[in-house]
Amino acid sequence: MMTLRVFVAMVMLGGVGLQAQGLRAGDAIEKIQHRYAAAPPPNTVDTIKAGDPDTVVTGIVTTFLDTMDVLREAVRRGDNLIITHEPTFYNHQDDRKLFLDDPVYKEKLAFIEQHHLVVFRLHDEIHADVTDHILTGLYEALGWEKYPHPEGVGGQYFVTIPPMTLEQIARMLQEKLQMKTLRVEGDPGLMITHVAMRPGASGLEKQVLALRKPGVELLIAGEASEWETVEYVRDAVAQGRPTALILLGHEVSEEPGMERCAKELRELFPGVRVDHIVAGQPLWNPDHPPAAVKR
Ligand SMILES: [Zn+2]
Repeated sequence: MMTLRVFVAMVMLGGVGLQAQGLRAGDAIEKIQHRYAAAPPPNTVDTIKAGDPDTVVTGIVTTFLDTMDVLREAVRRGDNLIITHEPTFYNHQDDRKLFLDDPVYKEKLAFIEQHHLVVFRLHDEIHADVTDHILTGLYEALGWEKYPHPEGVGGQYFVTIPPMTLEQIARMLQEKLQMKTLRVEGDPGLMITHVAMRPGASGLEKQVLALRKPGVELLIAGEASEWETVEYVRDAVAQGRPTALILLGHEVSEEPGMERCAKELRELFPGVRVDHIVAGQPLWNPDHPPAAVKR
């Protein structure tokens, strides 16, 4: 059995090793980029959003999105390299124009700078690898990774499951993903076997094309424009078609993929602490009100 003294010595050696290693944030980011897709797409959003790449890494965080609360928790844990899947500053390109004089933006940026954090967005490359790691994370969270992805229909973005009604699937999702909000469209008794999985906000075209594939009854997506895909599905249902839509919420649909990313980064950086910090669902409904926010 390991004595406490041996354990403490090992922890100290680990600490010394990490210090001596002096892993720069910029080098860590490069290594992460090589871990995923071979090359980022042109105009990639996978860039450093704030912080100095020369900063020595004390710990790594993965998260769906580096919210104010995620950043605070990272600082509390002593982690300074933040790997966020979605943007820090409220739009896809992290364009600051709208926010330069905005108090919320300024306070968030000041917090990052004050605590010498480095924020890197890992979006395009983690989706664009041979298998989409975010999608795989969602399948694993549901226990659906063992089911077939029919070839010829569209591969990894489709899955054939044992038959369940739409309502049963909705309840299963609610439980497995610990959801506070969930939105379902279609006949609750509709029997589902062929599911299209589109985590995130893939947009009208990808969502409709997915629903149009032969046999697909249900699209599970992160989010959709209410006046686009949602209304398309409403009309399809009204015409008597076996069509349904479940909107998980963007965070719920992609957080498991970033939890999986933390495991992958632990293998990539042995000896470096890698934490997954759950961003959590931003919205609530009266069945599950959040605790009052301290001011
Ligand atoms: Zn995504």
